[in-house]
Amino acid sequence: MSRTVIPYGKQDISQQDIDSVVDVLKSDFLTQGPQVPAFEKTLTEHTGAQYALAVNSATSALHIACLALGLGEGDRLWTTPITFVASANCGLYCGAKVDFVDIDSATYNICPKKLEQKLIAAKTNGTLPKVVIPVHLSGQPCDMKAIAKLSQEYGFKVIEDASHAIGGRYHDQPIGNCQYSDITVFSFHPVKIVTTAEGGAALTNQKDLADKMALLRSHGITRDPEMMTETSHGGWYYQQIDLGFNYRMTELQAALGVTQMQRLDDFVTARHVLSKRYNEILSALPLVLPYQLEDTYSGLHLFVIRLKLDDISLTHKQVFEALRENGIGVNLHYIPVHTQPYYQAMGFSEGDYPESESYYREAISLPMFHTMTIEQQDQVKVVLEKVLLS
Ligand SMILES: *Cc1c(COP(=O)(O)O)cnc(C)c1O
Repeated sequence: MSRTVIPYGKQDISQQDIDSVVDVLKSDFLTQGPQVPAFEKTLTEHTGAQYALAVNSATSALHIACLALGLGEGDRLWTTPITFVASANCGLYCGAKVDFVDIDSATYNICPKKLEQKLIAAKTNGTLPKVVIPVHLSGQPCDMKAIAKLSQEYGFKVIEDASHAIGGRYHDQPIGNCQYSDITVFSFHPVKIVTTAEGGAALTNQKDLADKMALLRSHGITRDPEMMTETSHGGWYYQQIDLGFNYRMTELQAALGVTQMQRLDDFVTARHVLSKRYNEILSALPLVLPYQLEDTYSGLHLFVIRLKLDDISLTHKQVFEALRENGIGVNLHYIPVHTQPYYQAMGFSEGDYPESESYYREAISLPMFHTMTIEQQDQVKVVLEKVLLS
């Protein structure tokens, strides 16, 4: 019997998306034209942040965000173990030390209480972090008020890794407005909520950070006379005043982003309809459904369940593989970063972050994409039921 797999995530490209990219191909600019600023404008309009810098990936955005905040050798960056490796690697790119704070058992996000405990100890030891990166896992906002309060008390900067969370809200304010952080980063990889194929952005309300990130994404080069050390030699003139990179987004990507952003609210609304229905149809099964923090609206990039392993006969791995064998394209977000060989070689080991590790032993990401049909969702339920109750 042939069977198509229901993927865990999937982009949705409309005819309008295609037309806008084709228009760019026929235009004068494939890079460094009007589409990137237009895309950035959709981001500031959506979030209310003052500045948005589009770049070629969220990984690049995290890197230049860390550099703009002055992260360097001898500094420390803290994040959660339950994230994609990029949220931690950006600290290593800057020569900083990376450390982790364990997750909250209900939200799976960085736990503010454990953060506070670790800060108290770090203050005594002289090992306070310069930057903390909370990650809005699945799109569910972290407890940003608590984190912002600690940042004032202990003097660290905050970068929100909102790769999962565009379109989400925290206390009825859009994620990305940087009310409780210095910089917010989005990803536009195709599995995320809106896509530019590859792409990312860094948002901020601080002009100095925006200027610095604008320099860093394009070789550290400026054409702004105000930033130059001497008067312009002429129309050709530019100056390199910092060491930057080529992290620019292309016009093709930005054009796709502009039309995708027009449908952002519809995408997230559709994800909420699916999530509500999942919660209803899966409620009788031996698993833990996602918890929603009060006063938050998730971007719902992912729908993560946790297996109640004591109540079923199969192992986590057996359930995962049975789901895949039955056409349900499940995934697992994430392998705790500190258990990756590269991080173990730096001295981390299994057992360091028990809550994250116990999450990892039980979590499965079910298919969640806004074009998912009711029939596909029912199929997920039927297979889950069959597997879990066997
Ligand atoms: C996808 C993702 C990234 C990296 O995004 P890219 O755009 O692929 O570089 C970083 N952090 C988190 C939490 C992600 O999910």
